[in-house]
Amino acid sequence: MVVQTERDDATWFECETCGLLFDEKEDAAEHEKRCDGEEPSYIQ
Ligand SMILES: [Zn+2]
Repeated sequence: MVVQTERDDATWFECETCGLLFDEKEDAAEHEKRCDGEEPSYIQ
């Protein structure tokens, strides 16, 4: 999940799963799609 956070007078969007910060909500959302924080359920 992407959470909005404020730091250094700026708004950031954090991937709640791994803690990565993004300055664009779209970037965070795009990352979050590929960051389940869980093991991939699909077979490689
Ligand atoms: Zn992540």
